[in-house]
Amino acid sequence: DYVLTEQEFVNKNELKYPFEERGLQFGDGIYEVIRVYDGEYYLIDEHVERLYRSAEAVKLQIPLEKQEMYQRLSDLLTKNKVETNAKVYMQITRGSAPREHAFPIDTTANLYAYVQDLPRKTKLMKEGISAISYPDVRWEWCYIKSLNLLPNVIAKQEAEEKGSFEAILHKDGEVTECSSSNIYLVREGKVYTHPAKKNILHGCVRSRVHKFCEDEEIPFIEEAFRLEDLQYAEELFLTSSTAEVMPVTKVDDLVIGEGKPGPLTRNLQRTYEKDAGLAGSR
Ligand code: PLP
Repeated sequence: DYVLTEQEFVNKNELKYPFEERGLQFGDGIYEVIRVYDGEYYLIDEHVERLYRSAEAVKLQIPLEKQEMYQRLSDLLTKNKVETNAKVYMQITRGSAPREHAFPIDTTANLYAYVQDLPRKTKLMKEGISAISYPDVRWEWCYIKSLNLLPNVIAKQEAEEKGSFEAILHKDGEVTECSSSNIYLVREGKVYTHPAKKNILHGCVRSRVHKFCEDEEIPFIEEAFRLEDLQYAEELFLTSSTAEVMPVTKVDDLVIGEGKPGPLTRNLQRTYEKDAGLAGSR
């Protein structure tokens, strides 16, 4: 397995990380997770753009120009002979330096990206998943895809311990997003979701779903909903690069709608498959 680094491709087992590394010591870095279907990237432009936006927001200099980044990401799949469904994880940290909060201006970023197989979650997408509600205790700049994921990790762990797939995060009852996905409530044929403000991650699949809704004349309303609104939800679904369009049929003890994936969600799943060139592969 080859790993892309800021300089060259190295073998997975040969990648060495320094002891004083700002990503390890401060979570001082950013990341992306990009979906690969049949050996090809999906929404690559959206992910690359977001990566450079995150970098700018935290004053981090990405060691590759954008064009070079595209080339190397493409080489990563070729070198690893990726032909199936997978994901690429990339992280870029501020680099190695003696441990001080303020960063030295002359550190160079450490970058790595590697491929992991990732089959589609077709069974879950057909049946729907359950979620828990959990307080959103994260910072106010969640639009930055930062390595600081401890609140997300804890929320997801809590969900897992309760046999659930995701944790729906809320601030005093107002739903923001999930631990690693965006969330949408469907009522009277309209899709409601938290506006793309700084306190949520602007999901690449979220912006795609927005477009699908526009194309299909489904009202896409960027207004936050509340936990209490879940009892009136006809459908609920979440999106991410790894979970695609995933129906949520239960939250804590509350059954959503009829307790199974609803027609609007199913329709968006089909649109997603077409968009990603997956039609017929289910
Ligand atoms: N929200 C959070 C907190 C995430 O970590 C993610 C991605 O994993 C998403 C939303 C969905 O983003 P995307 O659609 O770009 O995968």
